[in-house]
Amino acid sequence: LDKRLLEILTIGQYIDRMTSPTILISGAGIAGPTLAFWLARHGFSPTVVERATAIRSSGSPVDVRGDALEVVRQMGLEATLRAGATAVTEAVFVDEAGRQVGRLPNGGSRDLELPRGDLATVLHEAARHDADFLFGDQLTAIAPDAAGVEVTFERSRPRRFDAVIGADGLHSAVRRLAFGAEHDFVEHLGIYVATVPFPRAGVPAHQVQLYNTPNRLVSLHPGRGQALAALMFRSAAIAGFDPHDVGGNKRILAAAFAGTGWRTPELLDEVATSDAFYFDSVSRVSLPRWSNGRVAVLGDAASCVSLFGDGSTLAIIGAHTLAKAMAASPGDLPAAFAQYERTHRLVVEPRMAGMERGARVLIPTTSFGIAARNAASCLAPLAAWAQRTFTSPPAVGAP
Ligand SMILES: Cc1cc2nc3c(=O)[nH]c(=O)nc-3n(C[C@H](O)[C@H](O)[C@H](O)COP(=O)(O)OP(=O)(O)OC[C@H]3O[C@@H](n4cnc5c(N)ncnc54)[C@H](O)[C@@H]3O)c2cc1C
Repeated sequence: LDKRLLEILTIGQYIDRMTSPTILISGAGIAGPTLAFWLARHGFSPTVVERATAIRSSGSPVDVRGDALEVVRQMGLEATLRAGATAVTEAVFVDEAGRQVGRLPNGGSRDLELPRGDLATVLHEAARHDADFLFGDQLTAIAPDAAGVEVTFERSRPRRFDAVIGADGLHSAVRRLAFGAEHDFVEHLGIYVATVPFPRAGVPAHQVQLYNTPNRLVSLHPGRGQALAALMFRSAAIAGFDPHDVGGNKRILAAAFAGTGWRTPELLDEVATSDAFYFDSVSRVSLPRWSNGRVAVLGDAASCVSLFGDGSTLAIIGAHTLAKAMAASPGDLPAAFAQYERTHRLVVEPRMAGMERGARVLIPTTSFGIAARNAASCLAPLAAWAQRTFTSPPAVGAP
């Protein structure tokens, strides 16, 4: 009897999948798997296509804060994420000799910080039973019409979906195919960032260390088992910059940090030999509209706030909001996309305004600015402001 019941249930699930709206999500980062999870819960049939061949389980530490914590709690993931969180409780500014000269506490908040890849892995694990994941593939063309979207892939056979969502990050392919060239929507904010795993960092597990020279920042983060270094510098847009040109970008970084003190020479040695080097422009994505008919964008693809905002937090909240809007209006997905945009823009826009303030505190442009920031960071008002700026949850949009 049990076997018969199981067969009936499996056939039932199969029929459900055949009749529920089919949604293609491009990108299995933070937003993509979160959206797939919630869409499946609401009776949709999601497929996620990810260019990488697997989810990498390392990367920059990112935060899950405010309403995003409530979303992961409702997904049943809070305990798993807390178990994988870093133990960081403060960031200290150091001088050339490594002596502490300022401090930004995080006040022991209940927010979560964990390596981006670990967060993506947990979200994928939560979604993978109810969504199809196609790794090592990407879409190459989309042809929307009134009733659906024809999609062609690099490797898989062409398919038709009811809608396509771009959750494929700062350099989104869906955004390019549906809205136009990247340079129309992506604004370089005058800063480049590089990260590299740095096992020899030797920083305490609770502490991030930050070292500045004018227009430059070097930071060491203990991570979770695997320490990570980040190097940021102010620069006008570099002509011909290509985030995928690893060799060229290593040379750009070495030139930008030549002669910089503290542990920078050691770090540049690490960069030279690392095969896990990341380098990109710190950018803001501004799109006048987040959807075009049956195609919509989400997360960094729609509204990147780069590393001075709340990118991962906003990606999770946005995915939840989008799934909720689609569930409320499954027969009119363009209307659902408009509703998602109305709600989520109210959450995103205040965080975008905070980007420049964050950059001014973290990367002062003069020696005087660095000294003033360090002195002020020891005073209660700046510490309180910094805590609000870097740790406060978005104010609107509880799930
Ligand atoms: C150095 C650094 C530090 C950061 N620090 C923080 C922080 O402290 N706190 C914070 O909240 N946020 C931080 N962020 C931002 C955060 O990582 C992003 O905002 C967040 O990951 C956005 O999620 P997403 O799902 O929209 O995009 P992503 O996480 O970028 O995921 C996009 C996915 O799409 C895939 N993809 C790309 N192109 C294609 C394609 N053509 N086809 C298929 N798949 C594709 C990618 O491989 C990736 O898996 C930081 C970012 C950087 C770069």
